[in-house]
Amino acid sequence: MLINLESAFQSSPCLVSFNFYNIESLTAILNAAKKSEKPVIAAFGEGYLSHMPLKLTAGLAGIFDRIYDMPFVLHLDHARSKEVVFQAITLGFSSVMYDGSHLPFEQNIQNTKEIVNYAKKYGVTVEGELGCMNPEDGTGPRIQSDYYTNPGQAALFAAKTGVDALAVSVGNAHGVYSGQPHIDFDRILEIRGAAHLPLVLHGCSGIPFDDIRKAVRCGIRKINVNTDMAVEAAKSVKTFLDTQGETARMDKAMEYAQAAMERVAEKYLNCF
Ligand SMILES: [Zn+2]
Repeated sequence: MLINLESAFQSSPCLVSFNFYNIESLTAILNAAKKSEKPVIAAFGEGYLSHMPLKLTAGLAGIFDRIYDMPFVLHLDHARSKEVVFQAITLGFSSVMYDGSHLPFEQNIQNTKEIVNYAKKYGVTVEGELGCMNPEDGTGPRIQSDYYTNPGQAALFAAKTGVDALAVSVGNAHGVYSGQPHIDFDRILEIRGAAHLPLVLHGCSGIPFDDIRKAVRCGIRKINVNTDMAVEAAKSVKTFLDTQGETARMDKAMEYAQAAMERVAEKYLNCF
C-alpha cells in the first residue's frame, strides 16, 4: 500500500529515503525495507526523467506495490517544475517535494503553497526546501553558513505554505563530502523550535551514523541517501567487469549492482 509522509512518520522516529531510477534500485530498496521491517521512502528525482518517464515510474511503483505486501512512500524528489509535481500527484505518487529553494523567499512560498493546495485534494504530502544546497548531482562548492536555513524564515514558510516537512541546509551536502561533514545541530534545534515541522536532512551519504542519530534527536525526521547507493552499485559492477573481462554480461552486472544497493539500504535502515 502506498502511504504518504504523514502516515509514515507515525511508524518511525526517522524515515529513510532512497532514490530509485530503474527496476534494480527499486527492488533493492523494497527488499531492504522488508528485511529490516522498517518503513521506507522510494524517491524518484526529476533529474531521472531524461531516461525514465514519470508515467512509467508511477506504473512500475504501482506494480511493485501490488507485489510487495508492505506500505511504502512513493515520493517525488527535488522537483523544480510545478508541472512535473502536478503530473506526479495525478499519476499516484503519495508524496512530493517541491524545491523552490533557488527562488526568492516570497516566490518559494507562493509556489509551494500552490503545490500544497493541489496535493491536499489527493491526500498527497508535500516537502518544501529552504536554504541553499549544492546541486543534487553532487557538483558545486560546499555551501557557506550564511546560506543555511534561517529559523525565522522557516517559521514563516511553515505557517504560510502548510507543508508537511521541510528540507534544511545545515552543513549537509549532496554527493561525496570532501573531508568530514560538520552538521550545525544547534541550528536544527532552532529551526525545529521555530517551525514545528518534521525536518529533512538531504545528503546523508557520508555523514557518520552517530551524527545522523544526533540530528534525529534535534528534530530531523527524514534522511535522504543516494550517493552511497549509487557509488557502491557502480563499484560492484566495476569489480564484476574487471574479473569477467570480455565475457561479462549485462544481466549479471545488474545483479551485482542490485545486491550492492540492497546492502547499503539495509545499513542505513538499521542505523536507528
Ligand atoms: Zn536532496
